[in-house]
Amino acid sequence: MSAFRGCWHEKMSWPIGVQGYSYQVCLGCGAKRLFDETMFSAYGPFRYDLQELAAWGECESQSARMGKMPEKVREGVQQRPS
Ligand SMILES: [Zn+2]
Repeated sequence: MSAFRGCWHEKMSWPIGVQGYSYQVCLGCGAKRLFDETMFSAYGPFRYDLQELAAWGECESQSARMGKMPEKVREGVQQRPS
């Protein structure tokens, strides 16, 4: 499940920011994955279709609003002094 076309996605591009979200692209096979700039880590499934990836991200943030992971928690992390 974690490997597509025998690629382990070891080399990922620098995060690419688009409207409302960021993603990384695997330099080996072109698979894309959502990237959380607040947590500075990739999350979610790998997708080759960017539209599919964005749809997954929207679905995820919708479930977050339902209480699983409130937006305020993410904001709090961002604003926390280092
Ligand atoms: Zn890959």
